[in-house]
Amino acid sequence: MFAFEKAIRTIPNFPSAGIAFKDIAPLLAEPAHFSEAINAFKERFKNQSIDVIVGIESRGFIFASALAYAMDCGVALVRKPGKLPGEVYSKSYALEYGHDQLEIQKDALAKGARVLLMDDVLATGGTMHATKELLDQHFEVDIVAAAFLIELSFLKGRDPLDPLPIESLISY
Ligand code: AMP
Repeated sequence: MFAFEKAIRTIPNFPSAGIAFKDIAPLLAEPAHFSEAINAFKERFKNQSIDVIVGIESRGFIFASALAYAMDCGVALVRKPGKLPGEVYSKSYALEYGHDQLEIQKDALAKGARVLLMDDVLATGGTMHATKELLDQHFEVDIVAAAFLIELSFLKGRDPLDPLPIESLISY
């Protein structure tokens, strides 16, 4: 049990009806909570020789950046379409209604890098699965694990990611 758990708010029907949105703003606002979370991630990955943490827009950036600073490794950005300059690789993926797309710069990751993927919430796993495919298709890197602050386990987001190791700090 982490002390930061009590600083995660559930907002019903946001951003659309039926979604119970996990709002981490109160956690981020409290230094003791944020550092508790980052230290817990650091403890789990300290022996994994991570070179780069890939953060997914946008709340994934927050955790990827702080953990990378704490572990002395680099950060790479996976973003929504049209945000990254220069040449990018893209990956489309299905949403409940319609589809979305993720992009990464072509020179974002060095061959052989040990990479940790990072986002705030694991829900259906679609976003992280698309990120993993984007990297698998275009980079010769070693994806060590995917890390999340929160896992909504009833949505079975681990299934599409199997056999990638998943580390989530808290699970609902
Ligand atoms: P998914 O692709 O279904 O695993 O959804 C993960 C992405 O959507 C993450 O980038 C989360 O930030 C966001 N997300 C999905 N469900 C929630 C939720 N209930 N509360 C907060 N963020 C969510």
